[in-house]
Amino acid sequence: MAKVVCVLYDDPVDGYPTTYARDDLPKIDKYPDGQTLPTPKAIDFQPGTLLGSVSGELGLRKYVESLGHEFVVTSSKDGPNSDLEKHLADAEVIISQPFWPAYLTADRIKRAPKLKLALTAGIGSDHVDLQAAIDHDVTVAEVTYCNSHSVAEHVVMMVLGLVRNYIPSHDWARNGGWNIADCVARSYDVEGMHVGTVAAGRIGLRVLRLLAPFDMHLHYTDRHRLPEAVEKELNLTWHPTREEMYGVCDVVTLNCPLHPETEHMINDETLKLFKRGAYLINTARGKLCDRDAIVRALETGRLAGYAGDVWFPQPAPNDHPWRTMPNNGMTPHISGTSLSAQTRYAAGTREILECHFEGRPIRDEYLIVQGGNLAGVGAHSYSKGDATGGSEEAEKYEIA
Ligand code: NDP
Repeated sequence: MAKVVCVLYDDPVDGYPTTYARDDLPKIDKYPDGQTLPTPKAIDFQPGTLLGSVSGELGLRKYVESLGHEFVVTSSKDGPNSDLEKHLADAEVIISQPFWPAYLTADRIKRAPKLKLALTAGIGSDHVDLQAAIDHDVTVAEVTYCNSHSVAEHVVMMVLGLVRNYIPSHDWARNGGWNIADCVARSYDVEGMHVGTVAAGRIGLRVLRLLAPFDMHLHYTDRHRLPEAVEKELNLTWHPTREEMYGVCDVVTLNCPLHPETEHMINDETLKLFKRGAYLINTARGKLCDRDAIVRALETGRLAGYAGDVWFPQPAPNDHPWRTMPNNGMTPHISGTSLSAQTRYAAGTREILECHFEGRPIRDEYLIVQGGNLAGVGAHSYSKGDATGGSEEAEKYEIA
């Protein structure tokens, strides 16, 4: 019998929903590159329901228990007294979502001798010390593509929200005002602006595609160049380094994974390369940016705005400066966990679990680490090493 530990975010403060705003989800057959959506043998949940919080259990309990395994679901993940710590010693599978990450540091992996699979219900496995997973032969897998389009939609929303000054204008209306001048003194059109993405993977390329109809000039930098046909179709300008791209952009959006090569790539020095008044959108990972350098750039006006949904650590301590810095459009980490996305990644998590328990290969596109090395999509997009340093700070968060 195996123990499967599933770390999920808390239920809504007013309880697990009994009704929903909508009755169905649109049907999506496949992703644009032809990759199929998750293909588990079955699912035991209603698509469109809240699966990512504790009571939703990613719809997995019936399946896991039907195999005779123990299934533990908890939101308690940080600090020495957390549930996660208690179950480390005999967990074979640890499932976690990036929105509420179960940080699997080298120390924790060392104290989890039976751990075989660290499964990310979502995309981005930087909450796992990949080097330690490599060293201890732990497989790391994620549900590639499951929420890439969800995030891209969020990026577009945030670009428009910041540039057009949406949130402060909404606040004026909600508070009974009609202060048009206050609203528009920081409001611009995106038309004609230059927008650049660091990484043109599944999310980055989708962002470029979605922004093209706004008649923005589109730029990107990536370790691998896109096919010429795509560059032509979208009239893209490729930059060999991100540093060369920053200075020409009015809007920069970060869409690369967090790994040692990208950690703190936005810092005081690189921010000097940005145009004064640029907007920075980061829905990739908080630690791509030096926390205090972002605050300074907003205070001096180097950046006109910063928006995103990713922080470090998560949950962000209650006094994290990004909660209150000027001209920010931050939300908690939500872009990849819409109800639509949850349906896809819950199914993908089930598919990976089925492979694990039946001894079938996990799809290459889901693999980050396997057999003591980076594998699959991980070998393409990540570098070896660890980006979990400082994650113990997540323990400081207190429910507001
Ligand atoms: P993909 O794997 O499709 O794309 C990642 C891209 O990043 C690849 O094109 C890769 O390049 C590129 N890349 C890696 N390192 C560098 C680097 N040093 N410089 C420039 N480009 C680099 O993943 P997705 O687009 O689906 O997701 C990207 C990231 O977004 C995830 O890793 C995750 O951190 C974050 N994310 C956030 C979510 C949220 O809810 N906020 C949800 C989903 C993802 P190449 O492969 O060419 O080497």
